[in-house]
Amino acid sequence: MARANRVDLRPFDFPFLCAGSLMVIMNPLLRYIQGYPQHILDPVNHMLESGRFNTWFEKRYPSNHDIKSEKALFEYTMAIKNRYMKKTAPLSKVIYDNKIHLINNALGLHTYVAKVHGGKIKSKNEIRIASVFKNAPEPLLRMLVVHELAHLKEKEHNKAFYQLCCHMEPEYHQLELDARLFMIYQETAKQK
Ligand SMILES: [Zn+2]
Repeated sequence: MARANRVDLRPFDFPFLCAGSLMVIMNPLLRYIQGYPQHILDPVNHMLESGRFNTWFEKRYPSNHDIKSEKALFEYTMAIKNRYMKKTAPLSKVIYDNKIHLINNALGLHTYVAKVHGGKIKSKNEIRIASVFKNAPEPLLRMLVVHELAHLKEKEHNKAFYQLCCHMEPEYHQLELDARLFMIYQETAKQK
């Protein structure tokens, strides 16, 4: 008897437990914003379904930055670092990297490389930005740079980390969402 009861209950549990993942199955593009609340997922999904998403995005971000070279990217990053995080460890390199995988939240990467050099350990802080952001709106590049700079001080994505991000860029949370929407934009533009 108890067993039959359990089976009877399952169909009622199912839609509530799986609502989020069902949505992702409906449109795989939504994986970039997986975890965001429904009131954000729904309008994005509707715009994708009606084919209005890309026009909406282009209207929101009509132009791209012109920080194309690695020298320009380094100088751009250093300007933000010197303004907000002057006392943190020096940066040796900031580059666009086409090997960064964009799923699993990795839009940028901060690496700390320790090398033995002439009997001494030389450490280097490097920032890598996913190369799709080479042709992207400037605020979204800024969000990524801010994110990776914050990692110089806070390794984890904890409260202190996000406070530091918002200190450097008050619109940080909105821009992080928009950077994910940019990934959806990139993918839908490719499909056309
Ligand atoms: Zn991070």
